[in-house]
Amino acid sequence: PGIPRAAGTARRRPSGPARAFAPRSSRPLIDLHTHTTASDGRCSPDELAARAAAAGVTVLGLTDHDTVAGCAAAAVACERLGVAFVPGIEITAVAGERDVHVLGYFFDLHSAALLAFLGEQRARRVARVREMFERLDAHGIHLDVESVLKPGLEDSTRSVGRPWIARALVAGGFVRDVSEAFDRWLSPGRPAFVPREGATPEEVFARVHEAGGIVSLAHPILVRHDQWIAPFAEAGLDAIEAYHSDHDDAATARYLQVAADLGLLVTGGSDYHADDEHGGGGPGSVALPRPHWDRLLARAGR
Ligand code: AMP
Ligand code: ZN
Ligand code: FE
Ligand code: FE
Repeated sequence: PGIPRAAGTARRRPSGPARAFAPRSSRPLIDLHTHTTASDGRCSPDELAARAAAAGVTVLGLTDHDTVAGCAAAAVACERLGVAFVPGIEITAVAGERDVHVLGYFFDLHSAALLAFLGEQRARRVARVREMFERLDAHGIHLDVESVLKPGLEDSTRSVGRPWIARALVAGGFVRDVSEAFDRWLSPGRPAFVPREGATPEEVFARVHEAGGIVSLAHPILVRHDQWIAPFAEAGLDAIEAYHSDHDDAATARYLQVAADLGLLVTGGSDYHADDEHGGGGPGSVALPRPHWDRLLARAGR
């Protein structure tokens, strides 16, 4: 038997809140796809930054839907926590009645033209959500639209969307959870669904480029039209998101190959929303390997 250890000196793995203060490893952990309460995430920008830092994320990209409203606060919080912050966005484009999510990075956050375009995008979101509430109403589900939309209307930089309706349906006891809300009411083909109107992917690429940024096709597996990637590349797409929580290893390998074949850059991230509907892993649970990050920085001239 060795020398008895004095009480309290046993090595323990930090857990719970203590882990947040454990020394961070120097290994890069790059997550370029996350959401906050500025769109449909559950964490404030401060909380997201804290969780990312605690998870050891060293480079954090914030990509709320159609808004950059969370970026200023996230930048301040990340700075304080020693996390490199990358402002970004996930813009919803429409192609053949399908949503195509386009990630933007390295653009001018203050571009008047881009901010005006995002304002139009959010106005279309509000109009669509209102129409979906009307459909629910016609089916005997009476929800107080104005109180649901209030936080989104009071702050014109926030993006409302179907998840807001889904949560109202849960809160009203009409469905058990958000998944059921989509399956019964809100998904294409269901009674409350209203198709989206909006910009084409090509228009979105142009708007982000005009603001000095680069564009990446988010989670291509969910777009389910790989044959669109080559024409998108012709139209100016810079990158595809090969690393994503909805991609298994085979899908990631396939999209890495597509990127190589088409000369596209590669992005990646967890798509963390702090809810159970998006993968379930924390910030950094899906990460972009460093060489791809270095290529993005080189393209962005950083
Ligand atoms: P919207 O932009 O208003 O059309 O809402 C799209 C968002 O709804 C997506 O980004 C997801 O967060 C969420 N969503 C879509 N389909 C589902 C589903 N089946 N279950 C849970 N959330 C979903
Ligand atoms: Zn989302
Ligand atoms: Fe998305
Ligand atoms: Fe996302």
